[in-house]
Amino acid sequence: MTKTANIPAHEIRSLTNQELVHKIGELTKEERRITIEVLRLLREIERRQAFAELGYPSLFAYCTKALRYSEAAACRRIEAMRAMRETPEIETKLETGELSLSAVTQARTTIRHHEKFAKSKLTPEKRKDVMLSLCGQSKRQTEKALALEFSVPLPVTPVVQRETARGTTRVTIEFTEDEMKVFEEIRRLSGRPQNLKEALLRMAAKELTVLRKSHGEITVRSPSPAAVKREAVPKDEPLSGKDGEEPSAQALAQTPTSTPAFASASDSVSIFVKRYAWKKSGGRCEFRTESGVRCEARHGLEYDHVVPVSLGGLSNKDNIRVYCRQHNLLSATYILGRKCMAKYVPSMR
Ligand SMILES: [Zn+2]
Repeated sequence: MTKTANIPAHEIRSLTNQELVHKIGELTKEERRITIEVLRLLREIERRQAFAELGYPSLFAYCTKALRYSEAAACRRIEAMRAMRETPEIETKLETGELSLSAVTQARTTIRHHEKFAKSKLTPEKRKDVMLSLCGQSKRQTEKALALEFSVPLPVTPVVQRETARGTTRVTIEFTEDEMKVFEEIRRLSGRPQNLKEALLRMAAKELTVLRKSHGEITVRSPSPAAVKREAVPKDEPLSGKDGEEPSAQALAQTPTSTPAFASASDSVSIFVKRYAWKKSGGRCEFRTESGVRCEARHGLEYDHVVPVSLGGLSNKDNIRVYCRQHNLLSATYILGRKCMAKYVPSMR
């Protein structure tokens, strides 16, 4: 291991150019070595679900809150760690600096996009070829190479989410010309000058109604236009504020899904039990660490059986709680064991 001694700040000015260049070269090498070490540790933290035991709903939340990485830095590290897990050959390329974390992130985002679009997975060999082809490429060259390789609109600009001071969330989305034409067409056919947000909310509300019907959560009415138009909902607003009042689109969006992949059979949970559990949870994951710290997740929540159905657990109000995906997984791991869970969850292998 190369270890370089720290130079006191006041001595930096007395270094010769040669010493200065040598020193910074050594340090950047050391920086990349440390990054690889961080990625290896993150991988083990994800495999053991150690972040979930600490009360974090995702590895990303752990990286940004506990490790204090910026959102973008956390994202790059998690993507690179997962890329290293899939393609071990890139580890040395990352360590030598031939491949950058951002190129790997960009490649993984594009590959995900492509796989979704093409409805098929890339083979490990192809994935490796793509990653290695990006060695030594600039950001722009990487974008071009990925755009040529995959027929998807590129560059894929991520959706940036920012919580504003008012407690609302600002979302920036980049649409291509063709994608924007869809909204223009909606405007034209509806004969109303509705703005993009209004159009998106209407579509989201319709989709949500379909989903909630398929999950047995509602039987008849769709959200009223007034509810759809309502701007923001306080975070702690219950699903139905007053008896009989339609929930807002945003409150609906926070309704837990009913799709744990294993052990839960939560579709068998009645709407009454779901309402009770949701109200009890206040729309927030109910997991607590041993020291009593509660998980902060309010999105991607699921109905979880405290005692799994497979072990005789009932779908009644005493046995149903609201957990985020990761804590649902963690509780299943406690009961079924890591070995069993690893069969279903690749990141735990
Ligand atoms: Zn949680």
